[in-house]
Amino acid sequence: MSSIDLMELQDLEFSIDHSRKALVVIKNQLEGNNPAKVARANFLKTQEEFKILSVTQKEFDDTLSQLVDRISATEKSLYRGTSFSSKELSGLQKDLDSLNKRKSNLEEELILLMDKCDNSKVTCENAEQFLEREEKAWNEKAKILMKNGQNLYSQMRAVDLILKNTRGKLPKELLDLYDKLKISKGFAVAKLEKEICSGCGVALPVSEVQQVRNSKQIYHCRNCSRILVEN
Ligand SMILES: [Zn+2]
Repeated sequence: MSSIDLMELQDLEFSIDHSRKALVVIKNQLEGNNPAKVARANFLKTQEEFKILSVTQKEFDDTLSQLVDRISATEKSLYRGTSFSSKELSGLQKDLDSLNKRKSNLEEELILLMDKCDNSKVTCENAEQFLEREEKAWNEKAKILMKNGQNLYSQMRAVDLILKNTRGKLPKELLDLYDKLKISKGFAVAKLEKEICSGCGVALPVSEVQQVRNSKQIYHCRNCSRILVEN
């Protein structure tokens, strides 16, 4: 039993912490926003815009068709030559002019709308193709991420077993000391690098450095109380 055992214990815990954090990153990548999700949202938006424009175009077509029917009926009334007074004829002619004017305006608007609708269709098709590419790329990436996550999880489980085994071999009072220091200091064991404690950065007198090197007992940093291990 020595400080080295505790250092090994700490390294195992660090390894598990590191794996756990890496797993959270992978999980967030898998569940969070990704290029395929963005591409899908964009495709659905362009699809909706195209749908609205198509419906509007259909409504314009219908209105135009009704207008053509009304013009045709008015022309028939006007030119069939039956008993209409000049006042009635003039009224019919006015109606016809007005209907033709509306028809002409509607046709102009319809041309613009058809143009918009065509552009929207192309945009929508492009967005769909882009979505397909992004989804394919993302699925490949997600597969790798999941595989990495599974490997990492297996490694973490294996290290956890070693950790439990290591703890099982250490005396209770040593583990209690280790756990208390871990809770109060964040980590319990610090390396002595040259004559400096890596836990707090304070330099030890040469005599104490020698004691850490030679002592088989647990030796604490006099400044931060962490257990010192020679590097
Ligand atoms: Zn220290």
